[in-house]
Amino acid sequence: MTRLIFLGPPGAGKGTQAQTLAGKLNIPHISTGDILRKAMKEQTSLGIKAQSYVDSGELVPDQLVQEMVQERLEEPDIKSGWILDGFPRKVTQAVFLQELLKKTHQDGERVVNLDASDEVVVTRLLGRGRKDDTEEVIRRRLEVYRAETAPLIDYYRDRQKLLTVNGNQSQEEVTTELQKLIAS
Ligand code: ADP
Repeated sequence: MTRLIFLGPPGAGKGTQAQTLAGKLNIPHISTGDILRKAMKEQTSLGIKAQSYVDSGELVPDQLVQEMVQERLEEPDIKSGWILDGFPRKVTQAVFLQELLKKTHQDGERVVNLDASDEVVVTRLLGRGRKDDTEEVIRRRLEVYRAETAPLIDYYRDRQKLLTVNGNQSQEEVTTELQKLIAS
């Protein structure tokens, strides 16, 4: 049973690696960024509420993303395991998730920290060309990452759940390292 949380700065390759690994393991890849972008495209009430935050690189309020993740983790396909990508993004969300997993008997999750240098991250993001990837928004997302999300590395290390992978390598090298790590 594989239950993994992917942590890392924007541009570390979290999304790509999470998707690749989930495909190989045949488990759902749950990306809060993807869910939000779809909701915004379809202009659902969640999408409308989230739009201004995503567009400016801020975090969407906890209550909105937490509800979204809770609903997703209640779907039948999560019984085979899952990879969570983009959540939690701050300590309050991690505390919420810990409670949720305990309540639904899904603990035993591990956390992969995909570590990448600022230089690598900014180059990759500028080359990606997504709508929310303007330079100013990228800068803000990195600031938010450092202030809100990076503390989760210590949070999970303290709880003995943390695995670290060097995200500066090529995509294929990262995938290989990841597979070895979770098999061990
Ligand atoms: P990236 O791939 O650049 O790390 P994501 O695709 O994961 O970004 O997320 C895009 C945006 O969606 C974030 O900048 C944020 O506004 C919003 N978002 C995604 N996940 C969360 C979350 N767990 N809490 C708050 N906001 C979130």
